Amino acid sequence: MEHRIHELMSAVPGTVSQLHSFHYGPPDSERSVYIQSSLHADELPGMLVAFKLKQRLAELEAAGLLNARVCIVPIANPIGLTQQLMDVPLGRYELETLKNFNRHYADMTAAIAEGLETALGDSETDNIDIIRTRFLTALEDRTPANALESLQLTLQRLACQADYVLDLHCDFNAVEHLYTTPAAWPTFEPLARYFGSRASMLATDSGGQSFDECFTLVWEQLRERLGERFPIGYGTQSITLELRGQDDVDHDLADHDSSAIIHWMMQLGLVQGEAPALPALPFPPTPLAAMEFLVAPEGGLLVFHARPGEQVVSGQLIAEVIDPIHDVVHDVRATQDGMIYARSQRRMATAGMIVADLAGHDSRRSGYLLAP
Ligand SMILES: [Zn+2]
Repeated sequence: MEHRIHELMSAVPGTVSQLHSFHYGPPDSERSVYIQSSLHADELPGMLVAFKLKQRLAELEAAGLLNARVCIVPIANPIGLTQQLMDVPLGRYELETLKNFNRHYADMTAAIAEGLETALGDSETDNIDIIRTRFLTALEDRTPANALESLQLTLQRLACQADYVLDLHCDFNAVEHLYTTPAAWPTFEPLARYFGSRASMLATDSGGQSFDECFTLVWEQLRERLGERFPIGYGTQSITLELRGQDDVDHDLADHDSSAIIHWMMQLGLVQGEAPALPALPFPPTPLAAMEFLVAPEGGLLVFHARPGEQVVSGQLIAEVIDPIHDVVHDVRATQDGMIYARSQRRMATAGMIVADLAGHDSRRSGYLLAP
């Protein structure tokens, strides 16, 4: 195991900010996996999974059973972890810039593509190596303007050459779910099964330049531009695993999730050993464009009639929003058949607030597909 410390730009002199990465497996491995947790700093179930993965990977490494290089970043957001306001953790947005920690990663496609056609050849493997080298060089050439960009660039540099990127998040109150691309789905479908994903939502470009997509979109766009003339594979496939809700920091759940990741790695031959039989997928993959945010039409006291993990039908009552001044009750109903996979932790809804998330089958949205 190799422990690396990455100095981040500090917002003010006299303070130090660091990112720690842990690297397992033979350095000359052909394939590599990058796993980070808690990019939204108050989404902590993944941090416990990362802690357990560190122990498991150290054992596998000692036993000579690792066929891949694996990088673990258990605390992907030291900035957000320090943001507490009057006993409330605020880890989704940086308080300095008000930006979401999982949006606006640098789009490197143009920098990589410049003059690329003179470098590419007939070998897909060589082409992947060439593009990966350019990707890292382009990221290293950038200078961050502030602490948030310094964090984002450091994470991108660490992950940009990995074959597989796993970003461990969670929702507010939720069951197991995930986001990935249609192209990556065959790679991650076994992981979805071991994990027990109850909503698997697929999109190539959800519009936010999120961490997972800042890698896959580069390969998609290069394939679009040059794929007819040169063989270009997917140098990176990535997935955002949502480890239930913010309260689900639990040893049994984290044991389950870390085992799911190890079993998926066995299934890909990244870890030696016999992967267990694949369990059934609880709910089929659906387009992210068919996911719908159910919102409160007015403000009021929020009372739920459905729990995450319930399959619902169009028109079914999901929640009531109660105005106790005018004695009015507003219904929030399912907009199509599907799976309620997440809901708000708040119980006083504000007008327009997202109350629950529904994985539907009928794509009705386009453009920006994510929550703010
Ligand atoms: Zn998150």
